[in-house]
Amino acid sequence: MPTPKRPQPSIRHDAVNPTDYNKYRLPWSCEDCTHYDRTEDRCTFGYVVKWHKRAYQKHSYELSGKFAVCRFQEID
Ligand code: SF4
Repeated sequence: MPTPKRPQPSIRHDAVNPTDYNKYRLPWSCEDCTHYDRTEDRCTFGYVVKWHKRAYQKHSYELSGKFAVCRFQEID
């Protein structure tokens, strides 16, 4: 009987060099983004924010060395 395929997360997590992660404070998160509505905790584009919020990214990076970077983030 073949081994069942592992379920894949629906969102891509990018590897980030640990030196870069510790050296640079880049605006990776929804909290840094122009499109993040803090009062309603949502993205004005309608994207799911849980993958890109700072706390999730930090936790993910500490566990795997990867986190989800939003391709639609904008900063002023
Ligand atoms: S565009 Fe991306 S980073 Fe910006 S609020 Fe929406 S999901 Fe978050």
